[in-house]
Amino acid sequence: MSDRYAVMGNPVAHSKSPQIHQLFAEQTGQALSYEKILVPLGEFQQALEAFRDSGGKGLNITVPFKQDAREVAHSVSERARAGGAVNTLLFESNGRIFGDNTDGTGLVRDLRNNHAVHLAGKRILILGAGGAVRGVLPALLGELPESITIANRTETKAIELAALFNAKLPVKGCGYDALGERFDIVINGTSAGLTGELPPLPHTLLREGASCYDMVYGDIPTVFQQWALEHDAALALDGLGMLVEQAAESFFIWRGISPDTAPVIEVLRQAMAD
Ligand code: NDP
Repeated sequence: MSDRYAVMGNPVAHSKSPQIHQLFAEQTGQALSYEKILVPLGEFQQALEAFRDSGGKGLNITVPFKQDAREVAHSVSERARAGGAVNTLLFESNGRIFGDNTDGTGLVRDLRNNHAVHLAGKRILILGAGGAVRGVLPALLGELPESITIANRTETKAIELAALFNAKLPVKGCGYDALGERFDIVINGTSAGLTGELPPLPHTLLREGASCYDMVYGDIPTVFQQWALEHDAALALDGLGMLVEQAAESFFIWRGISPDTAPVIEVLRQAMAD
């Protein structure tokens, strides 16, 4: 019988993770199955135990259970601890559960490896202060940017989040009305685009040659990509590459093999265009 993996969330029907992991498994010759599990709110622990008891080897965790996953893990990576959220669980043979967060590594690898965008010494603005932003901040800081500004609709959340990370490098939190400077890299980590909305951004936000990245994927160009192109960004990227790169890092944690992401991004891009 092949090893069993799954993604748990609510909602989860839209998830492309089964397709991505199936492609990774075929490419690397690994025998595994990967399914989607819709977990009712408040039933994460029971769902996880049922999956593990039926032979499950590992899980991806999506909204709204990333903090619950942090709590059930017996040990977590430093990047998951710092972000307070877990998107990957590994059921170890000794019965312990290891938790990790691969979102930030996925974002950085997509920027660096697939688009030659390097963060070192750059002024970064990240929009939003929810779970996704919290999860990626440790990896962004690890690239040693000049500074990170977190702007959010609910200003207090941005300020609180920035305070958690301010020790190593300048990390500032603010509301959109306080955005007075220009940035090299702007990352949209809000869910505003899912309803066709955009945070209220000033026109003077981008430095010359700036790169813009929308964590949202799906219908492209996203609202934020359109904004970026209208404001002369050198690059306006969507989050499909991040999705595949974070999955590849989860696959590595489970299977010890790093799949080649480029052909998988290509297959998904083509499927979404059809
Ligand atoms: P959360 O619900 O935790 O946070 C949502 C954030 O978006 C909050 O900061 C919220 O602000 C802000 N927001 C929502 N609506 C608006 C609006 N109309 N105007 C301005 N700000 C708004 O969501 P997540 O952090 O988990 O996810 C954010 C996005 O990132 C999602 O679209 C998700 O699909 C994407 N994502 C992509 C990944 C990938 O691999 N490509 C991985 C993970 C996430 P406030 O605090 O004021 O409510």
